[in-house]
Amino acid sequence: MTDGSSKGPDKYNFSTECVTIDNPDAGKDQFNSSSVPIYQSATFKGMNGEYDYSRSGNPTRTHLQHHLAKISSAKHAFAVSSGMAALDVIARILKPGDHVVAGDDLYGGSNRLLGYLQSNAGVVVHHIDTCTPSTVEQYLDKERTRLVLLETPTNPLIKICDVQEIASRVKAVCPSAIIVVDNTMMSPYLQRPLNFGADVVYDSATKYLSGHHDLMAGVVICNRDDLAKHMSFTINSVGNGLGPFDSFLLLRGLKTLAIRMDRQQASAKIIASFLNQLQFQVHYPGLKNHPGHHTHFKMAKDAGAVLSFETRDIKTSERIVGAAKLWGISVSFGAVNSLISMPCLMSHASIPAHLRAERGLPEDLIRLCVGIEDWEDLIDDLECSLVQAGAIRRREEQSTSSTLSSPEGSLERVGEERALGWQRCLPSDANNASMDGALQQPHTSGDAENIVVSAPGKVILFGEHAVVHGVTAIASALDLRCYGCLGARSDDTIHLVLPDLHSEYSTKVSALPWAETEVEKSDASDGDGNDVDMNPTLIAAIEKTLPPSITGKIRGAVVAFVHHYMSLCYPTKPSLTFTARSSIPIGAGLGSSAAYSTCVSAALLLYMQKVVINRQRATPHISHSGRKYIGVDIAATVNKWAFASERILHGTPSGIDNSVSVFGGAISYARGRAQPMIPLQGFQSMLLLLANTHVERDAKAVISRVHALKANQPGLFDECMRRIQDVVDEAVRCFQDTDLPRESMLVGLGKLVAANHAQLELLGVSHPALEMIIAKLKAYGLQTKLTGAGGGGCTVTLLPDSFGAGGESGKSGESAHTLAHVTSNLAQNGFSSIVTTVGGSGLGVLIDKKVWDMRLVDQDARESVAPLAGIFTQSSAEELAGKMKECGHWVFV
Ligand code: PLP
Repeated sequence: MTDGSSKGPDKYNFSTECVTIDNPDAGKDQFNSSSVPIYQSATFKGMNGEYDYSRSGNPTRTHLQHHLAKISSAKHAFAVSSGMAALDVIARILKPGDHVVAGDDLYGGSNRLLGYLQSNAGVVVHHIDTCTPSTVEQYLDKERTRLVLLETPTNPLIKICDVQEIASRVKAVCPSAIIVVDNTMMSPYLQRPLNFGADVVYDSATKYLSGHHDLMAGVVICNRDDLAKHMSFTINSVGNGLGPFDSFLLLRGLKTLAIRMDRQQASAKIIASFLNQLQFQVHYPGLKNHPGHHTHFKMAKDAGAVLSFETRDIKTSERIVGAAKLWGISVSFGAVNSLISMPCLMSHASIPAHLRAERGLPEDLIRLCVGIEDWEDLIDDLECSLVQAGAIRRREEQSTSSTLSSPEGSLERVGEERALGWQRCLPSDANNASMDGALQQPHTSGDAENIVVSAPGKVILFGEHAVVHGVTAIASALDLRCYGCLGARSDDTIHLVLPDLHSEYSTKVSALPWAETEVEKSDASDGDGNDVDMNPTLIAAIEKTLPPSITGKIRGAVVAFVHHYMSLCYPTKPSLTFTARSSIPIGAGLGSSAAYSTCVSAALLLYMQKVVINRQRATPHISHSGRKYIGVDIAATVNKWAFASERILHGTPSGIDNSVSVFGGAISYARGRAQPMIPLQGFQSMLLLLANTHVERDAKAVISRVHALKANQPGLFDECMRRIQDVVDEAVRCFQDTDLPRESMLVGLGKLVAANHAQLELLGVSHPALEMIIAKLKAYGLQTKLTGAGGGGCTVTLLPDSFGAGGESGKSGESAHTLAHVTSNLAQNGFSSIVTTVGGSGLGVLIDKKVWDMRLVDQDARESVAPLAGIFTQSSAEELAGKMKECGHWVFV
């Protein structure tokens, strides 16, 4: 059959190329028709003609394929009967035993096809978060990975993956694997993944390429002759080449691709900005607060016309969708008409609910596919739907700078304390004006003023619950961290930004309750932190200033930050922005709040120079990667403030979480001991698998169950306590026995893990989901226990060293394979898991190397440094650790 091999480089700009359809069989059209004729014929007469049977080739389809190759600047193009048919043609390259690595936010139909291949064709599919290249790397198998399937932006969560980075990592490990990109959201107008290392790109041409929702089609393009030959063979064998009439319609649609897309995305930007400023969680790569904004614009010309947003309530979302008039309720996207849908009830309903939850697909998510209607009509209709659904309300009084203005009055989000100034602007200004609603960047006067700190989460290895009753517990720092960035601003405001909780808070410094506090007394003016404690009067006064809509974790984070700000920054009262990011799962019992407390405390103490780190001497060639650079006296001061913050957040914490977060390593803690906290000497870093049940924990209820057991069955309870103390003592001996071969130590600790869990089960703090994980991992010979309060939350499993990166070749093949199997087995049951290490460094402070070097140069050079704060807010939680490492030089306690 004839594919659409292109004749050479583009001659014109894209929109011109779209409307100029060359005839691949130049001179053969007897009437010189200016529109491509429809050869509605199944067969062609004669023996030696170019065409004989339309399954193998048809002149209208050839025209189309030629045109597709030309506008995509690709060597080969194929047109098939649907987007799914395109994926099917590509997937037929796979053989039984081959591995596929694919995204976890794939289009539902792609998911279904891969599932079919997994159960019927012996192909192993790993659905993972492809937005993090290192995660992709973890799932590569040199021998077996044959195909990596990427979508960017994904649909409907609009996540971005870095095709170039992934392609280069995949090719380094598995040179024969092919990188396939579903480019449906972008079309060749906006994004050309072949230029970034993809081998094959496909589009559902049902969407933007045709543009009118009047045909089904799929398009595959590639530059490699071998792949083209294979796919051409498949299309001819299967018979799913696009029919002549649909080929004609698709050719017609393609002529207006650029002009449609320009109009649609200009309106999409305005709509994204409108929703963003009403403080909905909006997913759109054109917004600067989108975590993949930079990565997206590295690859794509613009942001496209699909966005999604969360309302935090399924019923509200249903009402919004139901109330829309101009926005059609429909699956699919890419047509000239605007569409609205709830993916979890519609396009993605074929993905089981537990998998949707595991992949982070919010049930209340609304997807908007913006068409070519007048943008003001679209906004009016959306605004009416939001009001009718009770998601926003109109205020009749004059609009102020803290409300959105609308022809009917000002708008505000129901349940939010404020909305920001939304100005209607012309689509032509959209690039600039509409993006003003993006999350505010810290107002800094330069990177030199940014203080960036980090602190680890923790895991309790042994002794949880029992520690409350005097038994020793062992906690260790995790290799997952919270990061804090503190920058100066100049507008009498403090601004707390919590992107991972989708929240921010700001207030005028002058509006804070300074008069009602005893700030001078609680201010540790000499910096040694002797008087440090939380100040209940100050907390009560801060609470009074907060709107009731700020609740839960966010309220705690705001109160702790403002309390420490007022305590440490009096009487200077600087204007500041503090942004906190977390790569520690929040609320899973892994010490995310202690790490936050540590970051808040350290950043404010450093900013006010109440503790001083000698940056001059922290040269980049410092030994052992900056470890142990920060002295214990500084750490002790930070720890006192971090403990005060933990008290604000949790009432009566033991102090173990913040101590591990500040000091790192491992700590043994026993309540009644003269010195409750003792650093565990000899503790070696170990590899750990953390699995999350995603079962919400009610820690207080679980703790009171243990208290009830103590009262009702004291014999059983005391025996449990004794056995847990034995386990902990044995673990301490194990850590301290430096002559014990490491392998024996790990085997021994594994047994202790199992023994500790058995006691926790007797105490009644386990949960069927925890037991399920434990049983599954036991089948692989791995010992697991719950960690934290139990009743849900996470498990910990000690992994043999061979499961980590081994030698130059990376993970040893068999262990990496087992690990991939373990994690996908857990994932299939709805449990997410992460491999991490314990026992690393505590508090870290970034000494921005670039800024540091610039100090020696002039002011202009300093201003050319990329803003650190931007990297900080715009990276995904997974990317952050890597990017922060690149930003400069870190020193640690
Ligand atoms: N890829 C994406 C991103 C899609 O959204 C769709 C359909 O919605 C497809 C592929 C499948 O395309 P088709 O419906 O044309 O088979």
